[in-house]
Amino acid sequence: MTTDPAPHPTSPTCGGRRGGGVSEGQLLFEKSKSGKEGAFLPERKFPKENFADSIPTSLQRKLSAELPEVTEPELIRHFVNLSKKNFAVDTHFYPLGSCTMKYNPKIHEDVASLDGFAYLHPLQPEEASQGILRIFYELGRSLAELTGMYEFTLQPAAGAHGELCGMMMTRAYHESRGEGKRNLVLVPDSSHGTNPASAAQYGYQVVQIPSDAKGRVDLKALEQVMSDRVACLMLTNPNTLGLFETDILKIREAVHKKGALLYYDGANLNALLGAVRPGDMGFDIVHLNLHKTFTTPHGGGGPGAGPVGVSKALAPFLPVPVVVKKGERYTFDYDRPTSIGKLRSFYGNTGILIRAYVYIRMLGLEGLKRVSHDAVLNANYLRKKLSGAYPNPHNEFCMHEFVLSATHLESKGIHAGDIGKRLLDYGIHAPTVHFPLVVPEALMIEPTETESKETLDHFVEVMLKILKEAEETPEVVRNAPHTLPIGKPDEVQAARKPILSFHDLKGDQAQATP
Ligand SMILES: *Cc1c(COP(=O)(O)O)cnc(C)c1O
Repeated sequence: MTTDPAPHPTSPTCGGRRGGGVSEGQLLFEKSKSGKEGAFLPERKFPKENFADSIPTSLQRKLSAELPEVTEPELIRHFVNLSKKNFAVDTHFYPLGSCTMKYNPKIHEDVASLDGFAYLHPLQPEEASQGILRIFYELGRSLAELTGMYEFTLQPAAGAHGELCGMMMTRAYHESRGEGKRNLVLVPDSSHGTNPASAAQYGYQVVQIPSDAKGRVDLKALEQVMSDRVACLMLTNPNTLGLFETDILKIREAVHKKGALLYYDGANLNALLGAVRPGDMGFDIVHLNLHKTFTTPHGGGGPGAGPVGVSKALAPFLPVPVVVKKGERYTFDYDRPTSIGKLRSFYGNTGILIRAYVYIRMLGLEGLKRVSHDAVLNANYLRKKLSGAYPNPHNEFCMHEFVLSATHLESKGIHAGDIGKRLLDYGIHAPTVHFPLVVPEALMIEPTETESKETLDHFVEVMLKILKEAEETPEVVRNAPHTLPIGKPDEVQAARKPILSFHDLKGDQAQATP
């Protein structure tokens, strides 16, 4: 790990080649040389003709695939070297607020790759899939217990997908009661961006509710917009400032009194496991991110899973099929006439669901309580150590995360993002920056329960060191990172005009800097 990088304020901050991370070496295609070979496939055991017959001519390849020709050692080195350029939770401390990058226990990988799971086929008959159906069923029941909800679907493949599922059920529910005219979805101004996006994507009009001075939903403002046009309020509790919405019961009353639903964004349940249940707070729909709270791999290491739980009144609208238990047998229940339909092929990201199941079974309720206890403890430890050196506009007991600000460095031309980049030089992943929007120059920090005191102390030390650098040599912080193959890419261009293919890199573009 780099602990004390020599600053190179004048060195270029970018590797030069668009597509970063590969600038040191070449692209695999550039290493290709006709005739080189690295794969030794076994003899084909079936006649070529029969195989070809089973694929319609229109779908058969006319030309052979254009693949790089390299030897096995070249291939291995290429990918191992690429992988070493990654920041991952297995290589670096990763205090990314709201995204809960906690350690993914390796026992989960062992279990998920057992032959009995790895070789399952989704079209296998139910009689031959009782084991996995039992896991689906028990995982759904465990999540229902943990959240206080009535029934769960495991189909959604991400948090945002769960939100979409929730919006679909919200509309189905209101329509079933002859209240299809409800067209507004309320979200607090501190909400995660996917909340308004999911609501808008499903045709709802989004209304933002301001936060009060204490970083909570402004109850008065909420009461003012509540009407019979409101379909639901989407809420995160603890909110994205890491603060518990202490008025939650009053919020519930304001929402339910007008016939609207209460949606719980439970992407980050890490502060509440075994302590407080959204169902008991009065929520009607809940989504969870297994790839956050329940330690399944995240982001590029995905795929994810965003199971959705509902109260009894909403259960008839769950996507089909729902896994149910009939006597000693587990089965897919398609007999749900008011279901919103199928949300995903087959039954969700099975390998991920297995990992989350293992996590819950390994820890049990007591272990899960300890997870949340330690996550909150670690967050408050860092909050105490860093608030002051960095302004904290809501400096009070926090849940699993807290938000600092870098406004005091603006006069030096340093922004929250620069601090994030400088942390990378020190071998620490950036916290979430510039979110939530209610805190200017936000640095949102979530250490999680899986980090040791030594790691947390090291993080504090580095954060204070960066502050000192900001005073003494601000350009070092402004121009960071200095130790990585790619520096400050143009994030807008990277998103709008991503270069996804080797062919796009040919010619002039190969030299273009991002
Ligand atoms: C991560 C997150 C989401 C979205 O989850 P994805 O799996 O990324 O779609 C929604 N809400 C909150 C609060 C989150 O942190």
